[in-house]
Amino acid sequence: MNNYGLDIWSNNNFLIENGQIKLNYKSMPALLSIIEEIRTNDVKGPILLRFPHLIKKQITTLYSYFDKAIRYNNYQGNFHAVFPLKVNQYPHAVKAIAEQGREFGYGLEAGSKAELILAMSQTTHGAPITVNGFKDKEMMTLGFIAAQSGHNITLTIEGLGELETIIEVANECNLKVPNIGIRVRLHSAGTGIWAKSGGMDAKFGLTSTEIIEAITLLRNENMLDNFTMIHFHIGSQMEDIAPLKRALREAGNIYAELKKMGANSLNSINIGGGLAVEYDQHTHSKSRNYSVDEFSSSVVFLIGEIMNAKNVSHPDIYTESGRFIVASHAVLITPVLELFTQDYQERLLNFKVVNPPLLEELKYLSKNLNNKNSIEYLHDALDHMESLLTLFDLGYIDLQDRSNAEILVHSIIKKALYLTNAYSTNEFVQLQVRLQERYLINASIFQSLPDYWGLDQHFPVMPLHHLDVVPLRAASLWDITCDSDGEIGFNPEKPLYLHDVNLDEEDYFLGFFNVGAYQETLGMNHNLFTHPNEYTVNIDDTSYNIINEVESKNILDILDSIGYNKSDILNKLKHDLKISDFITEKEKNDTLAKLETFVEQNGYLRTTN
Ligand code: PLP
Repeated sequence: MNNYGLDIWSNNNFLIENGQIKLNYKSMPALLSIIEEIRTNDVKGPILLRFPHLIKKQITTLYSYFDKAIRYNNYQGNFHAVFPLKVNQYPHAVKAIAEQGREFGYGLEAGSKAELILAMSQTTHGAPITVNGFKDKEMMTLGFIAAQSGHNITLTIEGLGELETIIEVANECNLKVPNIGIRVRLHSAGTGIWAKSGGMDAKFGLTSTEIIEAITLLRNENMLDNFTMIHFHIGSQMEDIAPLKRALREAGNIYAELKKMGANSLNSINIGGGLAVEYDQHTHSKSRNYSVDEFSSSVVFLIGEIMNAKNVSHPDIYTESGRFIVASHAVLITPVLELFTQDYQERLLNFKVVNPPLLEELKYLSKNLNNKNSIEYLHDALDHMESLLTLFDLGYIDLQDRSNAEILVHSIIKKALYLTNAYSTNEFVQLQVRLQERYLINASIFQSLPDYWGLDQHFPVMPLHHLDVVPLRAASLWDITCDSDGEIGFNPEKPLYLHDVNLDEEDYFLGFFNVGAYQETLGMNHNLFTHPNEYTVNIDDTSYNIINEVESKNILDILDSIGYNKSDILNKLKHDLKISDFITEKEKNDTLAKLETFVEQNGYLRTTN
């Protein structure tokens, strides 16, 4: 039975029971029950579900593994973590992070002025705030305001110019000076599609010469005591642990050298993010070669080892991994609207009294196919199909004969596939690439899975139900944007098989998993499709609670948000309708009412699933 790689990517967060995927937590609700409950309120289109217990699980895992490594290595420094807001700034994600992280003193990382304001408003005093990215004088001043307001804030400088700006602000006001961090430019780079953050040609960080200059500048300005942290980040979604180990050795030695140079207040190494998430559904292509256990032990052991060798006291360790914390907490659920090869249904067969002999032969093959002859009959059918197509091109058979032949061959392939259960053989994979089913999903890939569109990042996808039935259809997924990039094609290397369903009789839902990191914030309003309806689901021992509904922006609001005046738009549409000819006044009023309802709904499809 196909479990869609659940054992690889789901980290035991989900399980399959009675043909449905369920949360593997407390009362274990099925995702389908949650979706059906939400849809009873006339909600259509894609739905994003948030599960705060999965954020808690990740935060707890991170802290407990570092705690274990610290105890095991007799490490003298402390462990701290901050959540980088760029990974997910949505209020109900951030609120869950703040709530679940409170007991650990979990902080926030900001990379822009807006994120800094958000961090200042959402962090409990005492929990750290780190600030990265390019900063102007205003942003530095905001950092001073945060420190003055009692926040434990570290401004990490990305270049010498930023340090000069901090000094300028400090000289111009009497506000409390924040802690200062220096991002070091390492020669060690990471690996993978997000590895550009490390290496000598990286966008950020100071070279050794610049670090020495920075120390001199700080000393001359009597601000060396504010310098508390060095920082590096070798890239998100680190596939391989080896580059991190090299980076740790390099950064550890820089730290020890700086201590020797008199940076007495320096007390922390911030190792940035990078902790990877398993996105793969196929054993042969795992996303990372290490566990959190190995990650935390390596960090603690290596830093400790360097400090011991150089006789320097152990620094506190900070991480900024956000993907690891939130990826799993969000699941995108999309209804399937249509299967595009349903035209091959056998009910559409329409034979004549006398059919071409090859077609009669196909009828025979289809009727008599069994598990002993299936491969042989399949080969015969494919052969006949080629001949029938040639006959059609030469004008010897008509369109109805051709349609009958296509339906029969299609059904023979399906039956053969089912009987042999051999859909991983090369021949079947090739056949499926040709005959793949297109599942139209009520969602936008640009809005909800932008990393798939931009970077080919795979996200685990599976149906919510029918999981006790072998899925036989090689599937590609089409979204509803009118853009041919809005497609997740069938990939024989990482095949997706879905079920044959009759959507006139039942709904069919697909879940996209591990979408809680970056996808929401990077999502694009291509075709003006907006962030889907979202809900937070709290699960307890006996049941679950759906809270925090945030509706997808309605059509007028999305137009308004890009600069149109929504009243002008609505008035114009109503005016055009009012002056048009209607036979009855009732029809006019009904149409006006319909128009008003439509513009107050979101843009996803409604009348089908
Ligand atoms: N810290 C910094 C400085 C980053 O640039 C990033 C993202 O690339 C992160 C943290 C988050 O890393 P991750 O995506 O591994 O959570």
